Amino acid sequence: MNISSPRKVPEKLLLGPGPTPVEQRVLQALAQPTLGHLDKNFVAIMDETRELLRYVFQTKNELTIAMPGTGSAGMETACVNMIERGDKVIICEHGVFGTRMHDVAERCGAEVVSVTAPMGKPIDPEDVRRAIKANPDAVLVGIVHAETSTGVLQPLDEIASYAHDAGMYMLVDAVTSLGGMEVPVDRLGLDMVYSGSQKCLACPPGLAPVTVSPRATERIKNRKTKVQSWYLDLTMIMRYWGQERFYHHTAPVNMIYALNEALRIIAEEGLENRFARHRRNAEALWAGLEAMGLKLLVDYEYRLPSLTSIVVPEGVDEAMVRRQLMEEYNIEIGAGLGELKGKIIRVGLMGSGSNKKNIELFLVALGNVLR
Ligand code: PLP
Repeated sequence: MNISSPRKVPEKLLLGPGPTPVEQRVLQALAQPTLGHLDKNFVAIMDETRELLRYVFQTKNELTIAMPGTGSAGMETACVNMIERGDKVIICEHGVFGTRMHDVAERCGAEVVSVTAPMGKPIDPEDVRRAIKANPDAVLVGIVHAETSTGVLQPLDEIASYAHDAGMYMLVDAVTSLGGMEVPVDRLGLDMVYSGSQKCLACPPGLAPVTVSPRATERIKNRKTKVQSWYLDLTMIMRYWGQERFYHHTAPVNMIYALNEALRIIAEEGLENRFARHRRNAEALWAGLEAMGLKLLVDYEYRLPSLTSIVVPEGVDEAMVRRQLMEEYNIEIGAGLGELKGKIIRVGLMGSGSNKKNIELFLVALGNVLR
């Protein structure tokens, strides 16, 4: 075994569902000296990171932090803190991640009422309204904003207003939307929203930004039972990220540097510009794919700018397409998940990966592979 030189990892063009390309600036931030996690210089970085997270979440929520772990840790944080054993919850499932949320909620001891939509379609707000009416004792409605397994961008306005009118909380998965499109936390009063660092935030995987409304924070503080997960218990973690700096766990120091830098890049570009860039590039990709005669899974109105699902044409071996793209062009894209395995391929244009050059490279490569 040769361990005498530092390992060199090959560079690849990440155009899949995530992780997505990470800019040098962020990688350099990751390589800065590790500080003590209660060091005043690190605490200042944590504070700035919270401010920047509030900016991307478009919120003033005091409880806005980055949890250690990937997007699924965000989902677990949301569920373990908001749900007490025996609570009834309404979970919307229109893809693999909604189904994962159902599973996590059930593991928290919830009685789950599910509202479903076919793969590639959004949840119909009327179905949620009916579920709320039939289950007025439910405590929350959980939903995925950007369903990465299908490429659907779920409209939230109506569903949020139905949930709030009934006194329920809105729990939202913004893993593939945060930093690439509007996640209107304060405008819609979303109560518990989580994301992942490795998608439109364009940071390596490892952190799960979370924001909690004042009303949901009160619910968590006033729980009858302890949060079932010690590690993800926000009642303790809020004291670590707050003024008190009460030790809970050792913050993943260098990952916070990386997230901080990725968020600074977003603030420099400006949210509106960033949203417009994601939209513009997605439109260009869709036009290019349709010009090649390919069909997209999701209707135009509900297409996610950060992730496009292409229907695999008759007689094409999608695994071979992905393999060839990787071996001959060094491009990674994603396979279909769950019911859509073998039926679609998924292309991500997220963060700095959402640019014209990548679209051109991908369209040429895909055209050659399909020829
Ligand atoms: N939710 C959505 C919408 C996702 O796309 C993903 C991952 O792709 C997750 C949750 C889980 O995130 P992770 O794989 O980072 O744990």
